[in-house]
Amino acid sequence: MEVKVITHSLAEHYLTILRDINTNPDEFRNAANKLSSLLITEATREINTAERKIDTPLAPYVGSEISNESVAVPVLRAGLGLLEGVQNILPNLSVGYIGVQRNEETSHPEDYFSKLPDVTGKNIFVLEPMLATGGSLSFAISKIKEEGGANISAICVVSAPEGIERIKNDHPDVTLFTASIDDGLNENWYIVPGLGDMGDRLFGTT
Ligand code: URA
Repeated sequence: MEVKVITHSLAEHYLTILRDINTNPDEFRNAANKLSSLLITEATREINTAERKIDTPLAPYVGSEISNESVAVPVLRAGLGLLEGVQNILPNLSVGYIGVQRNEETSHPEDYFSKLPDVTGKNIFVLEPMLATGGSLSFAISKIKEEGGANISAICVVSAPEGIERIKNDHPDVTLFTASIDDGLNENWYIVPGLGDMGDRLFGTT
């Protein structure tokens, strides 16, 4: 699996705002949007383009356009925090949703909600801001593959080495774009230093 760590100064700026315990939910959402636009910019660096002939006010010009369709799939609920930043920048985009929870009896992940558009032949970007154990992301990717999705990238704000290993094993064909590989997980499965609970910080819950 290819892992790309985005080290742009702007990404580090917005990531620091996200990590800061004193950032309020409005500032947090704003920084998440900005960082998500930066991550998707990197993730689409080599996306297919087609020739597009246009006229400038002065001359004919052969430009390019992103003609292939893309699908963003936020993993609920924290993934919603990355959606606007992707929608702001990526053309021809449809959006699917996957909500994953752990079955309390079997302890296996299962989806409590999922709605995907046609994913075949599309560029697919799974939005999972906190790659902790990797269980939810791996489950979401499997679900997308079951529906025929193949060209899949994962967009993660912060990644733990444990989660990266899991995705490497389960889905070596996926490319991971992340702003940071952190130290690891604590005893409660939180990423350290991390940024806390992404969903709570986005939506002001505790
Ligand atoms: N999910 C979060 O929101 N934060 C973590 O640190 C790990 C998983």
